[in-house]
Amino acid sequence: MTKPFNSFEMAQAQFDSVAKLLDLEEPARELLRQPMREYIFAIPVRLDDGRVQIFRGFRVQHNDAKGPCKGGIRFHPLETLDTVRALAMWMTWKCAVVDIPLGGGKGGVICDPHNLSAREQESICRGFVRRMAYEMGPHRDVPAPDVMTSSQHMLWMLDEFEAIHGSKQPGFITGKPVGVGGSQGRTEATGFGVVFTLREAMKELGIRPQDAVASVQGFGNVAQYAIRLLDQIGGRTQAVSCWNQADQVSYTYRKADGIDLDELLGITDRFGEIHRDKARELGYEALPGEAWLEEDVDILIPAALENQITGDNVGTIKSRVKIIAEGANGPTSTEADEVIQSRGIFLIPDLLANAGGVTCSYFEQVQSNMNYYWDKEEVLGKLDMKMTSAFHAVSRLAKERNLYMRKAAYVIAVDRVAQACRDRGWL
Ligand code: NAD
Repeated sequence: MTKPFNSFEMAQAQFDSVAKLLDLEEPARELLRQPMREYIFAIPVRLDDGRVQIFRGFRVQHNDAKGPCKGGIRFHPLETLDTVRALAMWMTWKCAVVDIPLGGGKGGVICDPHNLSAREQESICRGFVRRMAYEMGPHRDVPAPDVMTSSQHMLWMLDEFEAIHGSKQPGFITGKPVGVGGSQGRTEATGFGVVFTLREAMKELGIRPQDAVASVQGFGNVAQYAIRLLDQIGGRTQAVSCWNQADQVSYTYRKADGIDLDELLGITDRFGEIHRDKARELGYEALPGEAWLEEDVDILIPAALENQITGDNVGTIKSRVKIIAEGANGPTSTEADEVIQSRGIFLIPDLLANAGGVTCSYFEQVQSNMNYYWDKEEVLGKLDMKMTSAFHAVSRLAKERNLYMRKAAYVIAVDRVAQACRDRGWL
């Protein structure tokens, strides 16, 4: 029988190989391959029908040497402690690679919001905070929305936290709506961040944006804003793919002379699904879901799901492809990654490419703690600076030590966190 996939074991294996490369001292390895703190707790909720159901919640604080932990809270029926541990560890590395003064955390509740009323979900949010109100906070651990949680869940949690502590503390949580402590630019941040790093990669490779053609998987938040900014700097997107709920398959929509973003947004629902028949009427070809990967383009941007470029389909990538920018988390399997590396395609790894989201969440936290908010231009300008300098730090190291970009990003991140631990006298 094959062993079920365990994301924490994978995160630890990734860490072990970087620790070896860095020749990390044994105590550093022991400290960083495990979370510093883990909380497992029960959340009793009275359901609308009068019954009481006990939900299980988790919060993992992987490492806070560089600053308060940061990471989302997921609601998922198949949530496990190991998934939360892996995601918390990845948050530590992601914050470190963009050099923001935060550590890594993640939380989760085993529940399915599809089967819960708004009131029941509110009770879970408030129950979560009641268990954790003295273990989290603006200067300890700052949550955010994640899978199946939204700005509404964040506001319920904030409200409970402030009620318990008897003071306004908007920096406790991020992902709040603009006007109630949210940051301008958060909606654009991840997609724009992908293109800030892509723009720098194109400069390094001598590709002019006006000559660059891209193909994108996904047409949700990340993809839409990546396409928008690529457009603004002169590039062109030739194909996008998205899920079709009615047909239960994905399609790739293609127009050889470039898609029109606003036209497509006009026929896209809030889940990022493009209306197939309307797209055809507008002159788009509706190709099979995987066609996005097989396009004759310079740039590929997977921005939908994990594990999309695999050993089975990596061979369909055309020789023209020069750059892959990972908008999604974990879109490339280990097997495919080896092929991409051996073909010399320039990879901007997820850790770096999609870190614009957490960077802007950090900006939200800073603004909330000051209770003073910047305009969008200021937020996006600061985001550009952070992403650009993070990109160059990784690419410089990759060149100096002849490392694959993914490895270089990990080396920088782990090295920074280990150094922070040493500086504090922990090691
Ligand atoms: P989203 O829900 O807004 O959009 C997802 C898109 O993917 C939709 O267009 C959907 O139709 C499409 N999709 C789903 N299944 C597909 C399939 N099989 N083939 C092709 N397309 C498919 O999600 P998002 O916020 O844009 O996030 C996309 C990815 O980026 C995820 O991996 C997420 O974890 C990662 N990410 C997001 C953020 C953020 O701030 N939103 C930050 C970091 C990482």
